[in-house]
Amino acid sequence: MARAYLDWNATAPLRPQARAAFLAACELVGNPSSVHAEGRAARALIERARAEVAALVGAEARRVIFTSGATEANMLALTPHLEVGSDRRPRDRLLISAIEHPSVRCGGRFRSDAVEEIPVTARGIVDPAALESRLAELSRAGNRALVSIMLANNESGVVQPIQNVSEMIHAAGGLLHVDAVQAAGRIAVAIEVLGADLLSISSHKLGGPKGAGALVIRTEALHLADPLIRGGGQERGSRAGTENVAAIAGFGAAAATAREALAEEHRQVLLLRDRFERELKRTSPDAVIFGADANRLPNTTLFAVPGVKADTAVIALDLEGVAVSSGAACSSGKVQPSHVLAAMGLGPELAKSAIRVSLGYSTTESEVDRGLDAWKKVYRTLHKGSEGIAA
Ligand code: PMP
Repeated sequence: MARAYLDWNATAPLRPQARAAFLAACELVGNPSSVHAEGRAARALIERARAEVAALVGAEARRVIFTSGATEANMLALTPHLEVGSDRRPRDRLLISAIEHPSVRCGGRFRSDAVEEIPVTARGIVDPAALESRLAELSRAGNRALVSIMLANNESGVVQPIQNVSEMIHAAGGLLHVDAVQAAGRIAVAIEVLGADLLSISSHKLGGPKGAGALVIRTEALHLADPLIRGGGQERGSRAGTENVAAIAGFGAAAATAREALAEEHRQVLLLRDRFERELKRTSPDAVIFGADANRLPNTTLFAVPGVKADTAVIALDLEGVAVSSGAACSSGKVQPSHVLAAMGLGPELAKSAIRVSLGYSTTESEVDRGLDAWKKVYRTLHKGSEGIAA
């Protein structure tokens, strides 16, 4: 029986347009830095992809720096050496929300004692009062902050009110980096509207090939004075190394398709997610859906049933032919309750039960139903087990 892939926040299947662009680029021989016709043909693919990726986030093409993925884009962005116009003083502190992806939590190129966490509320939204007071303290002490807040959380799908906090951050002399990896291609993302100074996206989360990403910079005035990878002058000196032409071409095609299909895919995925959640609650009334009353991505359900361990459920669902995750894929394998749920105030017991189901552009009703059928079986077995132990 065909499997049901319901783990799109881990990675999305390649879009047909991205596959076609990727394969066509593999046929090109040139190095994009070469001046001859072969080189110029490869360069043309990269510049086209740059325009497509820029359009997805409402930026100018020349503000897009291609990287090997969002992990690298985050590492590149999170440096004290961000110059604004003639202001070359390094940033003293990095403030991150308590629910960031590990590639932001590690603090980039800041010393670990310069990194601080800003708490989130029980709904998973960064606490604006805590952020404001910390920014004010830092500014009084003459310190300048770089703040990093994700647009949508990879585990819960909760969307942050970035527009509201960006004004506050700028008023305090801070800069804002936004990890928009899970949001791009799923909800509208416009760098100007968000007020983000730096924004990271990843190809494989929106149906492009793995191993490509981008850091987008809002204005000419902001200069990354500390490239992560030095060498040749590629990417206007911000990222040395011969470009991954095929992956970048595929990334561009995926971005263009995601942008054109955004409204339709949003509608479709939301209907399927509603169907999933309705049935989930009907068949397992004790299921808790996290962030249900917050603004969430249309494709993500993070839920838990008390007493049903997520690790066991994920394996049982896999055996039934259904791919889902327990918490974030990046942290699975480590038996640690999710830092995202801990930050939302959840106890470790319920956090260990958190299962993430995430859908995407090609998810079908029958895949969702297969997921539900498998869940019903798993729930009956594991739930009974847990009741037995409790009794
Ligand atoms: N940020 C978030 C929110 C993510 O979900 C991920 C992927 N798990 C990344 C960054 C890293 O992206 P990449 O896989 O392109 O390095």
